[in-house]
Amino acid sequence: MDKHKTETLAIHAGRQVDPETGAVSPPLYLSTTFERDADGGYSTGYEYIRDRHPNRDMLERTVTALEYGTGAVAFSSGTAATLAVFHAVGRGHIVATHDAYHGTLHQLKELVTGWGSEISFVATSSIDAVAAALRDDTRLLWLETPSNPLLRISDIAALRELTASRNIVLAVDNTVASPIHQQPLNHGADVVMHSSTKYLGGHSDVAGGIVVARDQALLDAVGHYLVRAGAVPSAFDCWLLQRSIATLPLRARLHASNALAVARFLEQHAAVEAVDYPGLSSHPDHATAMKQMSACGGVLSFRVNGGKEAAMQAAARLRLFIRATSLGGVESLVEHRASIEGPDSHAPQNLLRLSVGLEHIDDLLADLDQALHATAR
Ligand code: PLP
Repeated sequence: MDKHKTETLAIHAGRQVDPETGAVSPPLYLSTTFERDADGGYSTGYEYIRDRHPNRDMLERTVTALEYGTGAVAFSSGTAATLAVFHAVGRGHIVATHDAYHGTLHQLKELVTGWGSEISFVATSSIDAVAAALRDDTRLLWLETPSNPLLRISDIAALRELTASRNIVLAVDNTVASPIHQQPLNHGADVVMHSSTKYLGGHSDVAGGIVVARDQALLDAVGHYLVRAGAVPSAFDCWLLQRSIATLPLRARLHASNALAVARFLEQHAAVEAVDYPGLSSHPDHATAMKQMSACGGVLSFRVNGGKEAAMQAAARLRLFIRATSLGGVESLVEHRASIEGPDSHAPQNLLRLSVGLEHIDDLLADLDQALHATAR
């Protein structure tokens, strides 16, 4: 299967025509428990939902193939998957992208430090800043690239040069890029994490998370955490994710081309102070993005002239872009990140984040134009 291209893997990796019934669409197994053999064994490999489940297995195989890993472990949310990686690397020093998803930053500050780990929050788009932050007891370099909501890019291959000789695990939150536009393991990362709630799910109707890695010992540690912590995804959520991933390559490409068109439109708009999108040549990390990404995904931020009030008014005037958190769904969303993230937010007060959906680009541009029109005058 590995020799096939992404579109083929998204449909065929991890599943097969059901040998018993000939069903083409994968069966949904709602059972949480599985029959023992007469001698007490489990020759099917399945015993109880928390340990292993057929729909979870299929999902894990599919995402393993898309990310070029050895294996994967699926969770009930991206947050649970992230915590599993922090737990699996053990106590020690962690260096993390300072403008990563705010939930990840809170988790590090509120939970992981409680285990006795120390965290340095660093602008990981600067290799020098990461080099200066690494210590003898550093266990993990956690990158979010593109970051969220400032869309800064960290150079995975260059940072791998720093971590490889020091026995530091290099993990990448690949949620914003999706496995279609960036495969961190191919650039030297050891671990990839997705909030499957976003592009993998793609329809804003399922929560999940998944960790992919090459090293079996690390995968075993993450899998052990899943079984003990219990944050397992439901069979139906795994089934829904598998179904959505079949169309991920198509969706991801349209998200990215719509987002690039929106970014170019906003960049020349009189009401806009600046646009944060790595696909624009004006972005500070554009060259690094082009080196490691095939396209820059569907998320972008922009800063509205006139401060917070002007930004809030523009968001209120939008008709197609729905005012809601999250990203990666078919529908376009707009969000004032500073309000949702609270006082320690890295987001400027006049910043709006867009998750650009799959509507027709002409309609999206017309909506933005009418919403920004009053601001521009
Ligand atoms: N990572 C990123 C980049 C995110 O945007 C999110 C959620 O917004 C998460 C992780 C956490 O995922 P979840 O909401 O599925 O727990």
